[in-house]
Amino acid sequence: MSRVATPDAAGERTGMRVHVKGVVQGVGFRPFVFGLARRHGLAGWVRNSSAGVDIAVDGEPASLDRFLEALRAEAPPLAAIDVLEVSRCPRHGFAAFEIVPSAPVAGAYQPVSPDVGTCDNCLRELFDPGDRRYRYPFINCTHCGPRYTIIVDMPYDRPQTTMAPFAMCPDCAREYGDPLDRRFHAQPVACPACGPHVWLAMPHRPAPLAEADAAVRQTQAALRAGKIVAVKGLGGFHLACDAGNPDAIRRLRARKRRSDRPFAVMMPDVATVQRFCLVAPAEAALLRARERPIVLLDRLPGSTLAADCAPGLDTLGVMLPYTPLHHLLFAAGGDGQGPWAFAALVMTSGNVSEEPIAFRDAEALRDLAGIADLFLLHNREIHARCDDAVVRAAPNDRPASVYALRRARGYAPRPIRLAEDGPALLATGAHFKNAFCLTRGRDAFLSPHVGDLENFETLRAFEAAVAHCERLFRVHPVAIAHDMHPDYLATRYAQDRAARDGLPAFAVQHHHAHIAAAMAEHRLPPEEPVIGIAFDGTGYGLDGAVWGGEFLIGDVGHFERALHLTYVPLPGGDQAARYPWRMALSWLRHAGIPWSPDLAPVQAARPDELAVSDRWLQSDDATLKAMAPLTSSMGRLFDAIAALSGGRQAVTYEAQAAVELEALARAGPVAAPYPFAFSGPTVDAAPLIQAAVADIRAGAGTPLIAARFHHGVAHMVREACSRLRAAHGLRRVVLSGGVWQNTWLLGLTLPLLSDDGFAVTIHEAVPANDGGLALGQATVARYRMERT
Ligand code: ZN
Ligand code: ZN
Ligand code: FE
Repeated sequence: MSRVATPDAAGERTGMRVHVKGVVQGVGFRPFVFGLARRHGLAGWVRNSSAGVDIAVDGEPASLDRFLEALRAEAPPLAAIDVLEVSRCPRHGFAAFEIVPSAPVAGAYQPVSPDVGTCDNCLRELFDPGDRRYRYPFINCTHCGPRYTIIVDMPYDRPQTTMAPFAMCPDCAREYGDPLDRRFHAQPVACPACGPHVWLAMPHRPAPLAEADAAVRQTQAALRAGKIVAVKGLGGFHLACDAGNPDAIRRLRARKRRSDRPFAVMMPDVATVQRFCLVAPAEAALLRARERPIVLLDRLPGSTLAADCAPGLDTLGVMLPYTPLHHLLFAAGGDGQGPWAFAALVMTSGNVSEEPIAFRDAEALRDLAGIADLFLLHNREIHARCDDAVVRAAPNDRPASVYALRRARGYAPRPIRLAEDGPALLATGAHFKNAFCLTRGRDAFLSPHVGDLENFETLRAFEAAVAHCERLFRVHPVAIAHDMHPDYLATRYAQDRAARDGLPAFAVQHHHAHIAAAMAEHRLPPEEPVIGIAFDGTGYGLDGAVWGGEFLIGDVGHFERALHLTYVPLPGGDQAARYPWRMALSWLRHAGIPWSPDLAPVQAARPDELAVSDRWLQSDDATLKAMAPLTSSMGRLFDAIAALSGGRQAVTYEAQAAVELEALARAGPVAAPYPFAFSGPTVDAAPLIQAAVADIRAGAGTPLIAARFHHGVAHMVREACSRLRAAHGLRRVVLSGGVWQNTWLLGLTLPLLSDDGFAVTIHEAVPANDGGLALGQATVARYRMERT
């Protein structure tokens, strides 16, 4: 143990105990306390417990006060103090200050730090030829490196991580044991002499082609030659290729069977990003943030790189390097500050279409063999899989505030602080973009993105992640919350689990859960009613119809459906989401416009498809009607407009038509909004469809129609809100659901609402889409358990 002698002025000293809760382990907190104690002349000890950090000290009363103040004010960058419990006591009689071994507390839990991008100090050492970790791909310290993805169990100590097999060499052990070293108790500390290493391999051939630095250099050469390399990262594998090489991208698309879905790219620094994208200061801050998310940026006109990576879109998802290995792949000699080997690398999730990201060597070598030419592997095991997070800069003026599109690495599993205490429960989330949520006390742990629960592999990944997080956070659910949709795998898991464990299960309506999620994220009072506007693609309604254009009045416990988009048939059910022309036909029929061959959706359908659609929409026969269930989906209205205006008729990824329509609207002129009609509880888009068809027949281009449509929706929302305010006396508006990830629509809507006197709540770190749903399910179920 390290000690500092402290002169003891007997008589004037008193004792103090401090218990610190929050993210305080694995972030350099104990050395920080050690330094503070020394500075203030205190004696005593600090230790990790599985419930936080405990401190016991003796000192002069004024020094104790200053110590407490500094504890909060100067905490290390990655620490997040939630609670400081302080009690004064008589002097203990300590003679020195020391860091003592961890004291486990049964059942207690500790927030787990997310993974953190390489810090500047480590980066400097990485490219310093005199440093013993020069070009070592696993350099890290207490301020950076892997966390969540390598932790097997808590408390966070090396034997409980996937670093356990690597015995520290004497040099690493000295740094690890020295309270004044940046690597003091950095659990993943390692060096070339004792730590993990990388190697390059070919598919189906276990023998390495090259190891250590030679493997990095050969990977660089292979990427430059247009090869596709599967790179083992922090939370899983990436498929990488040179983003400046259209052939390589085409090959990757063909092998991954991903025709237009956008690929994220990694660029070496912000200056490079600015060559391809518009980067506002808030966006630059997000790119550089230690979470290192993929930031969705507006691309510069004429950027061919962006066109290859994100066809049909005006945005490009960009991230900066976040592991030492990434930095090495970009460096073309020098000090890691340029010149660069690449302006951009495609870095897309290493998965077979729709399956979870591969994170174990064996499965990657098997599943990605048909896609990757080479594999850059390493022997530090990934324990928990974690995708890259995707964010946008929030459409408000607050600097660096994020608007999450996918919550994952860097953000998860940081807990979300809830408005109130409550029972521990599991909410299983939605079908698409699944994430689940565990609650404990006032903390909600929203899981990293799991994926679409459409296949066995994703369900397995979901179950494994639930089990892992329950153990890690010491959560023993006393109830299960789930969606109302009877066929969702997440619903079936919830019901099976509830039956097996004898727990109550709560079915929560999809759009109510969306609104509750946004309320929970911002700790709005659970019993204060709001106007909740949930716009998304699909969600099971109380009447069995497919909801998605919903205006709810309610609080966390209750809701009434005050207004909704008119019901129209969804021709072919779920299939309609893949073929926007089908929704266009349905809306045309509803608006009383014949399916004449001058209209793009009519051209897009084969004659037999037109005939079948006609029967579905026309017939009174129950079987045929069941083929076209009713929907109030706003997402599907976006599809209909996309198809009608000559945009996308068939999609290759979810929400593609709507995302492209948003891009066209951004490029479109400022134009008069299309009208909606209000009648009773419904908001009818028939007048909008009629106006759009008139524009089309007058020769208007898609951007104008897209622009008028977006303005139309924004104005309709304002009109609906003022009607609901008149009827219910509410001025708090909450916006949630996947449609609100359209930041163009959001940007048009927010000023209309605030100019009209509404207080508007939008999502931030919790996604507005189904990735945030579980948080809402959890809070609704808690409310019902506690209050009814
Ligand atoms: Zn570091
Ligand atoms: Zn070492
Ligand atoms: Fe939804």
